[in-house]
Amino acid sequence: MKIIMLGAPGAGKGTQAEKIEEKYQIPHISTGDILRANISAGTALGKKAAEYIDQGLLVPDELVVDLVVDRIHQPDCEKGYILDGFPRTIPQAEYLDKALAEMGTSITCAIDVEVPDESIIRRMSGRRACLHCGATYHVVFAAPEKENICDKCGSELHLRDDDNEETVRTRLQVYHRQTQPLLDYYGEKGVLKVVDGTKELDEVFDSVVKILGE
Ligand code: ADP
Ligand code: ADP
Ligand code: ZN
Repeated sequence: MKIIMLGAPGAGKGTQAEKIEEKYQIPHISTGDILRANISAGTALGKKAAEYIDQGLLVPDELVVDLVVDRIHQPDCEKGYILDGFPRTIPQAEYLDKALAEMGTSITCAIDVEVPDESIIRRMSGRRACLHCGATYHVVFAAPEKENICDKCGSELHLRDDDNEETVRTRLQVYHRQTQPLLDYYGEKGVLKVVDGTKELDEVFDSVVKILGE
């Protein structure tokens, strides 16, 4: 099962991807998490990526495409994977399709988590992220057991620098301009599925399971 999560920043892609990973036992691959890990580790990639991420812009395609293609060649990806936050532009999608074709395979489905912009702005201010393991929480809708501590790994939670309102507005504009065209791209391939991301977490996941099967 090779799944792509589509949707605006804050739509709930990461949250649903974590649940899919757990139920279907396939790895959750988030380019945002990989880039943030590189920033924390101070790598050359991290330094380049930070300039764009801090402004709410996409990093250039060439910084992410090979990294994802290398990742899906790893042995743990043999049975499938969930791509979260990739592809985000038409050239990234074309590059991915070419790499998959060379591997003799293709995408199973692209799931669009649909949430209107106004709800996103409200959601993002409450998002808390674990920079250590990538888990995501919300102060109201998905609170950790212990305040500000990750349930999964015990690390402290953070409000991401790029989750402030101004940067979120920029990211939404970038989404509509550069990423939303992927809905037509996957629609034309006949693999696009849409779920209503404004529902509660578990209800959204029920819709995802209906698409993927029990
Ligand atoms: P969100 O989950 O809120 O959409 P992500 O963690 O996926 O945010 O991404 C954070 C930032 O990392 C993006 O705003 C962008 O700068 C960068 N990024 C992540 N994935 C990609 C990608 N596939 N192409 C370009 N930039 C990316
Ligand atoms: P994305 O990966 O698309 O950027 P996240 O999964 O990180 O989005 O979700 C953004 C924020 O909204 C997080 O704080 C998350 O806990 C919260 N969230 C996710 N899904 C829902 C939902 N269905 N209802 C309310 N809050 C949600
Ligand atoms: Zn954690």
